[in-house]
Amino acid sequence: MPYPKLTVDLSKIAHNAKLLADQAHARGISVAGVTKVTCGAPEVARAMLQGGVDMLADTRLRNFRKMQAAGIDALYLLLRAPMLSEVEEVVRLADISLNTEEETLKALSLAAGRLNKTHRVVLMVDLGDLREGIWPDDFIPFLRRVKDLPHLHFDGIGVNLTCYGGIIPTPENLGKLVALAKEAEEVLHYPLPIVSGGNSSSLLLLQSGGIPPGINHLRLGESIVLGRETTRREPVPGAYVDACVLQGEVIEVKTKPSLPVGIIGQDAFGHVPVFQDRGLMRRAIVAVGRQDIAIDGLTPVQPGIEVLGGSSDHLILNVTASPTPVRVGDVLEFTLSYGALLAAMTSPYLAKEYVSGTG
Ligand SMILES: *Cc1c(COP(=O)(O)O)cnc(C)c1O
Repeated sequence: MPYPKLTVDLSKIAHNAKLLADQAHARGISVAGVTKVTCGAPEVARAMLQGGVDMLADTRLRNFRKMQAAGIDALYLLLRAPMLSEVEEVVRLADISLNTEEETLKALSLAAGRLNKTHRVVLMVDLGDLREGIWPDDFIPFLRRVKDLPHLHFDGIGVNLTCYGGIIPTPENLGKLVALAKEAEEVLHYPLPIVSGGNSSSLLLLQSGGIPPGINHLRLGESIVLGRETTRREPVPGAYVDACVLQGEVIEVKTKPSLPVGIIGQDAFGHVPVFQDRGLMRRAIVAVGRQDIAIDGLTPVQPGIEVLGGSSDHLILNVTASPTPVRVGDVLEFTLSYGALLAAMTSPYLAKEYVSGTG
């Protein structure tokens, strides 16, 4: 396959999924494996299911279509609140959806009625991160207004944190979710099958035993795919952080100054660059750029290599400290941040290769 190439090791994904699903299951918590960062790659979805996740979750219906067309039989949870223009497709493709708006729930109920189905919904509460969710004080009145909509089943309540406001899950804010779930159960007269306590940022709490009893569901993406929790981006002990690796080919290696020569105007993106004089450097260029990936999110795997920057099509490296000389034609490897992986997966310029490297 041509370079640049993104290699995804499915056995590492399955290993990470199993590690986290086992930890969650031991505490009575089920896991949705979140596929959105891989654009709903069926290969990755299968590896997650093989690792033991209980359902698949994604923000986009077209990713569900892709996985379902590939024959993946699973429970599908839609993570982004539906657009009014897609409610019928939501009912067709998703078993459960996360919701925050009365108007949307009414439309989902009508659509489910037309399709002769019952659609399961989870109501999202905003506990301070200021992305989606019903404000806690409004939650019970909201539930009372929508609970008798026909063709819907209220499956639960959930929260999303550490996405917009950077708010960290704690026993206090997740405790508030559990308290709201109890109030909701009194209104609904049945126990909620889903009390969803967040995403990969809830992992540290899970591992330290700090998740309040009553939380019974988590939605995990980055921690499975990249092996990191997301409050500080620390590696999850025992998980692979290199299941996804970018490979690029070196097209130039030269010794040049570290300071540009001449009068500095703007770079290709309209910024005025600032440089530090570090003397002469052995510099390499890899044929990959901002059109393919988010350069800032790349970490070289080989030692002694530093990312200096790049432009649309060129990645510029300092290879002075590389223990083995870097040569034209060499293939260098990089691990990726969430943002870099998101861009890489979305880029039509990057070949994607799914391998099963480890046992
Ligand atoms: C993306 C997303 C997740 C998964 O987040 P990770 O940090 O990748 O684990 C969970 N829930 C919702 C609502 C999301 O949008």
